[in-house]
Amino acid sequence: MELPIKPPDRVVPEYSLTGDLLSYRRCAMQYRYYNGSALPPSRPVQMWYGEFIHGVLEGAFGMWRANPGRYPFPWPSTPIPDTGAPAPPPDGLAPNDLRVIGWPIEQALAYEGKRARSRRARVSAYRRAEAAVNMLGPHLFPLIADAEQKVIGTRPLPSPTPGTMLRSERYALHGVIDVLTNVELASVGEGNIIRDAVRAACPDLQGMFEVIVDYKGSHRPPLAEDYWQLGEWQVQTYAWLRQRQQLGYPVAAGILIYVNELAPGSDDIRRMRSAIQNRQTDVAPTRGDPDYYALNTWTAGAAPRLSAAFRYRRAIRVIPVTQQSIDNATQQFDQIVAEIEGRVRDEEIRGSIRNTWPPTCDSLETCIACDFRHFCPRPAGTRQQLATAEAAGDDDDV
Ligand code: SF4
Repeated sequence: MELPIKPPDRVVPEYSLTGDLLSYRRCAMQYRYYNGSALPPSRPVQMWYGEFIHGVLEGAFGMWRANPGRYPFPWPSTPIPDTGAPAPPPDGLAPNDLRVIGWPIEQALAYEGKRARSRRARVSAYRRAEAAVNMLGPHLFPLIADAEQKVIGTRPLPSPTPGTMLRSERYALHGVIDVLTNVELASVGEGNIIRDAVRAACPDLQGMFEVIVDYKGSHRPPLAEDYWQLGEWQVQTYAWLRQRQQLGYPVAAGILIYVNELAPGSDDIRRMRSAIQNRQTDVAPTRGDPDYYALNTWTAGAAPRLSAAFRYRRAIRVIPVTQQSIDNATQQFDQIVAEIEGRVRDEEIRGSIRNTWPPTCDSLETCIACDFRHFCPRPAGTRQQLATAEAAGDDDDV
């Protein structure tokens, strides 16, 4: 006789900060389909470019730390050949050549079924990885205390609507902090861009404290976009998780690094110009600035002649952390989890995914890359726009 397996007394659904909460906010329907039939979903949406950039920065930092003083910046990046499928770098390259660092990351991602969408996307990813390592490395690497730090904590789960019974009273929230820095501003040399950015955003800071750094494989979002707010909530929630570990100094700030801004492609420049024209960004060149002129005279296909100082300003976003800001952000994420849990419950009752998880994405770019666009009842843009963008080879960069 076969005995049934005893079910667990309690279900504590687990949520990943980026893989679940940010993905759900991108699109509820896409999130549900990407996460298969396992509830609660926990597998992150696959994003080759973001994972590649993270991998290269982590690999470069590991090599820099293991070989003090041996590989001064800038590090080389041997160009990718104009034709042919992705192949190993040629023999004889220096160990710190970004092609050498990037290749095993590409292989590991390919093993998981993740590949660059096109050759152009691959070239663009290496170009940005090179900018990230050579522009950030000299400033950021000396400050890093820990990389890829796992954090987890449990929180009470509010009811999505009054009286709704959920399967659990708590949920577990986990994430991976890209970089933790121990910063004593007074001890960091003048001209360190991380120090200067933290000091400008948090002028009253004294003593030792931690700064959480998160790399974003994207452009700096416009202020009105969901991603602007979500980025802030993310670092505040990391700060909450980190403080629960009680291992380090108090977290004083989070830094989001929008890697595309260090080496912007054509689409990034178009978005930047549009955000500046519509007064939807906090970092814009002033009239008469060389960067103002460079942006306004840029033509599609040409390399943008933006200064390094301006690109740093666009790439680095410092977010001060206080108890009040942490409380606000974690409550916002509680509400997102409650909404997901409410849909998990509704799906069980209705037996229908499509009637429970609506398409909520308004980004044409996301919908073009979405595997479910062909049967999605309401993708962003018109069918004609989707078809045209698809035929044109989607985004020009990644
Ligand atoms: S096509 Fe767009 S709206 Fe539809 S499921 Fe995909 S991401 Fe969501």
